Amino acid sequence: MAQKDTVGVVGTGIMGAPMAVNLAKAGYDVVAYNRTPAKAEALVGDGVRVARSIAEVGAAAPIVITMVPDTPDVLDVVEGPDGLAASMAAGSVLIDMSTIAPGATRELAARLAERGIAMLDAPVSGGSWGAQQATLTIMAGGEQEVFDRCLPVFEALGKNVTLMGPSGMGQTTKLVNQILVAGTCSAVAEALVFAAAHGADLLKTIEAVGGGAAASWQLANLGPRMVNGDFAPGFMVKLQQKDLRLVLESAQEKHVPLAVTSIARAYYTALEADGLGEEGTQALIKAVERPAGLEARQRA
Ligand code: NAP
Repeated sequence: MAQKDTVGVVGTGIMGAPMAVNLAKAGYDVVAYNRTPAKAEALVGDGVRVARSIAEVGAAAPIVITMVPDTPDVLDVVEGPDGLAASMAAGSVLIDMSTIAPGATRELAARLAERGIAMLDAPVSGGSWGAQQATLTIMAGGEQEVFDRCLPVFEALGKNVTLMGPSGMGQTTKLVNQILVAGTCSAVAEALVFAAAHGADLLKTIEAVGGGAAASWQLANLGPRMVNGDFAPGFMVKLQQKDLRLVLESAQEKHVPLAVTSIARAYYTALEADGLGEEGTQALIKAVERPAGLEARQRA
């Protein structure tokens, strides 16, 4: 395969690492930086080059992807000392694939535009499995022309890629996604604890209701992990808490009452208070089990 452009990746955590590998597999020259160097160095065998600094990534690549946790982290990586804003050339593109605040995204895009750097917000859904399989759903915000230029990069990472509108609309769409995900995950946890309390076979229950109107990604993927007692992340409770904070802040701006989402956030708050912030979001079932006084477990 002919070598394609250089693509930079800053943040090779649960999501960024497999994304960098998939870009290398698709023929891109990938240069990656991670704050904890070992996580980037682990990708060398998969054809990813390791940069010693964020500025080295910015100087090397006409397209740079950021995949870090929250708004202050993106601002740090882009505008902090040794950041991307100062090292990326005019005419290059920053693609932020982290989930952060839509308003801060629009402001950052405007500041970068003054330096001649284009920005797309392109948060993702599909979890670590989607990142590994290159089947992520990608929701982008920004200019059509910039999106078209970056589409081949997105196609190396995901399957369902949509430009939602101007800067910030990718992040807004991701928050819509998180309203659906958090509500559904809570319903799955409540349904399984209810089923266990009434003595139902839990795996059979998932199979039976999963073929009808109650079918969902959360039930099919996280339901079996809940009852198997597999709470490894995937998507960490603390990151979902961050997303739900962004959702509720945005909802408040427009006076939209999100009652179900607020309850889901309260479940996650209880888990964080118990020190479970680094477990996967399927640990939500523990917040329902505790008051019910039972564990809904059944090994496959
Ligand atoms: P993660 O495993 O915690 O990875 C985050 C990475 O960012 C780490 O490599 C971390 O470096 C780096 N980082 C954190 N703060 C930084 C800072 N201030 N400066 C520089 N680097 C920093 O998280 P993740 O699951 O990959 O999530 C990344 C983003 O994707 C988040 O916005 C999340 O909401 C979103 N997302 C995640 C999933 C999922 O299923 N996991 C799904 C959809 C979207 P260190 O190694 O040094 O800590």
